[in-house]
Amino acid sequence: MDNFVERLSEVICDVLVIGGGTAGPMAALKAKQKNPALKVVLLEKANVKRSGAICMGMDGLNNTVVPGYATPEQYTKEITIANDGIVDQAPVFKYASRCYDIIQELDRFGIRFQKNANGDFDLKKVHHLGTYVLPMPNGDTVKKALYRQIRRERILVSNRFMATRLLTANDGRIAGATAVNTRTAEFLVLRAKTVILCMGAAGRLGLPHSGYLFGTYENPTNSGDGYAMAYHAGAALANLECYQINPLIKDYNGPACAYVAGPFGAYTANSQGNRFIESDYWSGQMMQEFYNELQSGKGPVFLKLNHLHADTVGEIEEILHKVERPSRGRFHQARDTDYRENMIEMHISEIGFC
Ligand SMILES: Cc1cc2nc3c(=O)[nH]c(=O)nc-3n(C[C@H](O)[C@H](O)[C@H](O)COP(=O)(O)OP(=O)(O)OC[C@H]3O[C@@H](n4cnc5c(N)ncnc54)[C@H](O)[C@@H]3O)c2cc1C
Repeated sequence: MDNFVERLSEVICDVLVIGGGTAGPMAALKAKQKNPALKVVLLEKANVKRSGAICMGMDGLNNTVVPGYATPEQYTKEITIANDGIVDQAPVFKYASRCYDIIQELDRFGIRFQKNANGDFDLKKVHHLGTYVLPMPNGDTVKKALYRQIRRERILVSNRFMATRLLTANDGRIAGATAVNTRTAEFLVLRAKTVILCMGAAGRLGLPHSGYLFGTYENPTNSGDGYAMAYHAGAALANLECYQINPLIKDYNGPACAYVAGPFGAYTANSQGNRFIESDYWSGQMMQEFYNELQSGKGPVFLKLNHLHADTVGEIEEILHKVERPSRGRFHQARDTDYRENMIEMHISEIGFC
C-alpha cells in the first residue's frame, strides 16, 4: 500500500482531453483557442505523435463537405442511408455545416489537401449521392502537423497514461479521471472542470474464437474505453446497434481501399471478374451486396485493378503503399501478388464500433 501511495500523483487542470488520436488534439486546440488562459491537458495511453486510428492509414478526408460539391443536408442524408438510419442526425449536420471552415484551418496547419489547377479543393465522388472524398497527398503527416500546433499552443501532453475511470463530484458532475502509466504503473488522479472523451472506436469486441488476428478494420489498440468510462459514470449509451464490418485485404488487417482506387477505374469484383457493388464506399447496403455475392457461390470477392494501365496502377500504389500504409506494399511483395497481374482477394472484418 505504501508503494502505491508513493507512486500516486495529482494533476489539476481546467480541461482534460482523454485520447490523443485525431479528435483529441483538435478538441484540445479548440479549447485553448477559445480561452488561452485555460490549462488544457491531453492524456494519451500511447504517444500523441503517432497514436490512434490514423496510424492505420490516411489517404484522403472521406467526409468533406465543401460548397459546390455537397451541402450539409445532402451529407446528413447520405450518412443516414449508409448507416441504415441508426444515426444521430443533429451532430452529423453540425459537423457538415462546420466542415469547410475546419478544412481551411487544417490547410493552414500545413496538412496538404489535393487542389486543382485553379487552387480549389479537388474532391472525388465515391459515395451514392454526393462528392465528399478529398485526397491528401501527404496524409501520413497529419499527426506531425497536429502535434506542432499542440506544442505551439502550449497544451500539456501526458503520454503513456491510460485513463481507467471518470471521477464524479458529490453532485454527480464529472470532476476528472484516474489513469495509470503503461510503463511505470504510476497512478495519476486528474482533477478537471471539464473532461472530453476522445478515445476512438472499439477495434474488436474480444478475441475471435478462431484465433485469426488479422480480421480487424479498426485500430485494434482501441478498446472502446470511452464508451465504458462514460457508461460507468452514468451516461446512457445510444445507437450501439450500428456496428461496422468492412471489406479487408485477406490476411492483412487493412482495407482494400476500392474507394481510393475507384476514381482511377478499379472496382470490387466477384471471382468471375464482374462488378457487383453499386458504390464501393462503405455502407450497410455495400456489405449486404458483398455478403449476397459470397452466398451466391460467385465468391471470393476481389479488388480488381489488373485491367488498368501499368502507369495508373503505379499511381494507385503511390497512394496505397506510401501514403496509406507502407506495410501494405511489403505484404503484397511477400505474397508475390501484383496489382497489374492479380486480383487481390478480400474478406470481411470482425465487428467493431466506430
Ligand atoms: C484502416 C483505417 C483507415 C482509415 N482511412 C481513413 C481515410 O483515408 N480517410 C478518413 O477520413 N478516415 C479514415 N479512417 C478513419 C479515421 O482514421 C478515424 O475516424 C479517426 O482517425 C478517428 O479519430 P479519433 O480521434 O476519434 O480516434 P483515434 O484516432 O483512434 O484516437 C483515439 C486515441 O485514444 C487513445 N486511447 C484509447 N483508450 C485510451 C485510454 N483508456 N486512455 C488514454 N488514451 C486512450 C488511443 O491510443 C488513440 O490515440 C480510417 C480508419 C481506419 C481504421
